[in-house]
Parts: sequence; C-alpha cells; structure tokens
Amino acid sequence: MNKIRKLSSDIIAKIAAGEVIERPAYAVKELIENAIDAHATAITIHVEESGLRKIQIIDNGEGMSREDLEISFLPHTTSKISDDDELMGIKTLGFRGEALSSIASISNLSIQSRIKKNASGTVVEIRQGRVAHIGSIGMPPGTIVTVDELFSPVPARKKFLKTQKTEFRFITEIILHFALAYPTIHFLLTHNDKTIFDLPVKKDEHQRLSLIFGEDILPDLLPLSFSDSYITLSGHIGKPQTASKNNQRQFLFVNNRAVSDKLISLAIKESFGTLLPSSSSPVFRLHLSLPHEVVDVNVHPRKETVSFTNARMVFDLVKQAVTETLMKNNITYHVDTFVSLKKGETTSVSAQYLKENVLPWNRGDIGQILQTTSFLQIHQTYILAVTKEGILLLDQHAAHERILFQQFTKAFLDEKSGPTSGGKQKNTYTLPKPLTFSFSESEKQLLEEHKNLFEDTGFLFENFGENTFILRNIPSLFKGRNMKKIIRDMLSDLEDQRGIKAIDITSQRMLAFLSCRAAVKANDVLTEKQMGTIVKDLEKSENNSTCPHGRPTRMILPLELIHKYFNRM
Ligand code: ADP
Ligand code: MG
Repeated sequence: MNKIRKLSSDIIAKIAAGEVIERPAYAVKELIENAIDAHATAITIHVEESGLRKIQIIDNGEGMSREDLEISFLPHTTSKISDDDELMGIKTLGFRGEALSSIASISNLSIQSRIKKNASGTVVEIRQGRVAHIGSIGMPPGTIVTVDELFSPVPARKKFLKTQKTEFRFITEIILHFALAYPTIHFLLTHNDKTIFDLPVKKDEHQRLSLIFGEDILPDLLPLSFSDSYITLSGHIGKPQTASKNNQRQFLFVNNRAVSDKLISLAIKESFGTLLPSSSSPVFRLHLSLPHEVVDVNVHPRKETVSFTNARMVFDLVKQAVTETLMKNNITYHVDTFVSLKKGETTSVSAQYLKENVLPWNRGDIGQILQTTSFLQIHQTYILAVTKEGILLLDQHAAHERILFQQFTKAFLDEKSGPTSGGKQKNTYTLPKPLTFSFSESEKQLLEEHKNLFEDTGFLFENFGENTFILRNIPSLFKGRNMKKIIRDMLSDLEDQRGIKAIDITSQRMLAFLSCRAAVKANDVLTEKQMGTIVKDLEKSENNSTCPHGRPTRMILPLELIHKYFNRM
C-alpha cells in the first residue's frame, strides 16, 4: 500500500502554504527535512556553485517504494499527515507535501530511492515538472535527491539572489542548525568538491558548537538545563560579554525545529536584566521540547516560526530557567560601556530656543572662535569648550566617529586610486603580537566574503587552517583597542546588512562601522589633550555636524541665550 497520498482540497486550504523556493538554501532545508523525517542517521550534502548548479542530498533513511516515488513530487502529496489529521500536533518536519513539487518545477530533479527490503532502487528524472525517465537502479537503502540547474526555468528569480558566497553561507547556516538539533546524525557538506565540514556522530558536541559559535566563545557559554512535566529546556547561554549587536547568534529549536521567536528572545533578554545594555542581544542556543499538541507549526510558509497555545507559560518558564542559570553561575559581570542615552524631550526655554534657532548645522570654523585651550568632560559623554559665541558641547562618540569616518574614507579612496600601496604602509599597523581568532563557520565565510573591504581598510588576516585566522595588521587608528571585540562586532554588523549588494554602499557602511568601533565611547575617560584633538579634528572633517549615522556631533549654547536666562538683556 502506498504511504504517500494526495491531500484533499479541504486540508490543502488549511495549510499555511505557498512555499516558494526563493533561494538555494531553502531547497537544501526542505531536502534535509525530508531525510530527517525518513529517520536518516547520515546525510551528505554536495553543493556546486552555491546550489545553483547542483544540490545533492544523500541519506540512509527509509527510502521510498517505486509507487511512492512516482507520486512524491506531485503537489500536495505527503506521507506525513492525512485528511482527518488536525494540523495541531504535527511531529514531522514536513507536512505540506509541497517541497519536492516546488523544486521539481524550477529545476531538473532526479530522485533515487530504495527501501531496505527491496534489492534495488528506483530512479525518476523530472524535467521542469514532467517525468522524463523512470527505471531501476542499484543503490544502498536510502534516498538521493539531485537538483540540477535550480532556477533555470525561472531566471528572474536569480536576480533576487545575493552573491554566490552569501548564498552559500546561508546554506551552511541552515545545515549547522540541523547539526545542532540532531547530534545523532552524521552531516557532511561539500562545496565544489571541497569538504566544508564533516560531523560524524561523536559524544561531545564540541565540534558542532565551535562551528556555530566559534571556538573563542565556547568557554563563555553556560550550560542550561531545566525540566518539568510540561517542558524541557536545554542548551547554552552566553555570558554577558559575548552579547552582540544583533540576534544572529540566537539559536532556538522547538521540538528540534529551528525557529525564531520574538517572545522567547525577549524572555532571555529580560533574564539578563541590567547585566546587558539595552542595545545588545544575548547569545544562546536553546532547545525546547514540549508536547506537539501545544505547538502550531503551520503558521509560516517556510516553517520558521511556531505559535504556542500557552505562550505566557513558555515565556515564564524560559525566563525562569535562564535566570536560574545566570544566578547559579554567579554572573557578576559589569558592563562598563553601558550608558542609557534617553532622548528626553526637555521643555526648558533654552532647549526650545536651541531647537528652533541655533543648531549649528553649518557653522563655520569653530577652531577660530575657540577662546580657550582647556576642555572639560561632562558625565564622561560630552566635551565642553568655551568659544567666542558661547559654550560648545560635543558628543564625544559622535564627534570622534565623524573624524574617523573621514580619515578612513580618505585612506580607503587613496588606496583604491593609488597604483602602489603607499597609503597602506601609512595606515596599517602591524601588531607586535598577532592575534589568533577561531571563527564560527559563518564568521569565517563573512570574512572571506568581505576580504577586499577588510584589506582595503588596513586589516591583514592570514588563514591558519580551518577556521583559525591570524590577524597581523590593523588600521593604525585601531592601535591599542580591543580587537577581538571589534572584529566580532564588525562581522555581526556585516551580517546584519545582508541585503546590500552595491559595493559602494557596502564599503561606506564598512567605513562607518569601522569608525563607530574605533571611536571613543560614552563613559570613556578622556585626557584634556585628547579632547582638544577631537574638537580640532572635527573642524577639519567634512559634514562634521553629524556622525556617519546622522546624529548631531555638537551644539553651541549661545552667550545671548545665557544672558537672556539671567535677565541681563
Ligand atoms: P512533505 O515533506 O511535506 O511530506 P515533500 O514534497 O517534501 O512533502 O515530500 C513528499 C513525500 O516524499 C514525503 O511525504 C515523503 O513521504 C517522501 N520523501 C521525500 N523525501 C524523502 C526522503 N529523503 N526519504 C524518504 N521519503 C521521502
Ligand atoms: Mg518535505
């Protein structure tokens, strides 16, 4: 009897579907899900040209009989749910019966499959949705799905793809998610015949964790485990110092399905309380297991989110588990750069006046009107100086950022235009002690994707095998700063701006990131000499009234206004 059936139109209507394979990584995801649903214990993924030329997934799972194989790639055929099933309580990763048919319609698809009890397998070849060949084939039990020339019938879709390197990174990330969720499955990935990673089933999960997080972070991960009759939580929470600017290193699995969930992220963030500044996101990998009946997986076309029947309870339990983990580990880290800059509207006369009249967007050379060479730091955030016209206030971070942006841009352009690397010598600083980095797979790929940008701005990385890199040179302006943190932050910034293709905007953003990372921060104590340099250098920079992100760098409180306030005029 066939296992695979076509769903009725009733149930099809209930499925949150319309699965569109928009990028090679989504095809890889669907195919791996099928292998896992077939209880494979080893899954090999061969990719060529970031999946556009070839994606091949080989598994040692249950396989399909000839009858099943013949209908598996038709729309809405599945062995995983049936017409009487409620869509709540789905235990398999797939259930819509759509993936193979979607992939078949936009590629040349070949499926070979053999169930154990048969001596040989069956192969079916589909060309743009139509069967071109069916026959017998000798093969071990399991399934081999080969997707050739993805998107060739719909070339327009290729326009929306990122660079091949980026598309390949998406594929890697998806596979690593599976690798974390399924420690008992052997995963092997190759790209253009080169092995990217081989993850045999080992007792310790070290290898998988280091590919996901990067070796350097592992010592700062706290193990978490919690369970009651309703829910089981396990995984790792990063200590506060590992937190990053974005949520790229938050890995959540609900019943072994990689998903994202704003509420759970928030629960974890809240557990950190004041241990983290409001702008940063904790690092975690968290596995939640709870009864399938209370999780609705039929809410997102790519199954990337789920909804819980009792979301509040899940929120509370996660928060409790993370809080306990942090307490147990006696986390006493103090974030020294923490500052909460509230954009408090003030109703004072001076503020109103300033807003309307004298924001010095285009004020001339302040250096000329400086009346003093002494500077005062206010709340370790602002620099105060006296000018002929009144009091000058600078936001130390915004101002320094603008200065560095100008310098970086100049160095960058010099290098681009100059035939020799004369500029490089000047702006690059060779570290007396090179720094070693153990990157996660994704960080490594980001670095390679943006290799030119890093080099053009004065970084020199050397690959030392696998994911280990040695940082030899840095831009001179970074001398003396915490490079480990800066590099990681820059990589996560780069990851954030996935959408951007145009090299110029990317470079510009990179320069803005560089400046932001290198600039003094609020709460950095400055010497008077440093303050003087910032005030003067800002005057020499173009567009100096805002930082590269558009925040004001300075304001002047005019003497007139001060006189007015004291009723002197
Ligand atoms: P779904 O996974 O939602 O059921 P798919 O289109 O991905 O839909 O697959 C259709 C059917 O083909 C599956 O229900 C399953 O029975 C069968 N199938 C697909 N891939 C495999 C595989 N690797 N091993 C065994 N059976 C598979
Ligand atoms: Mg499927």
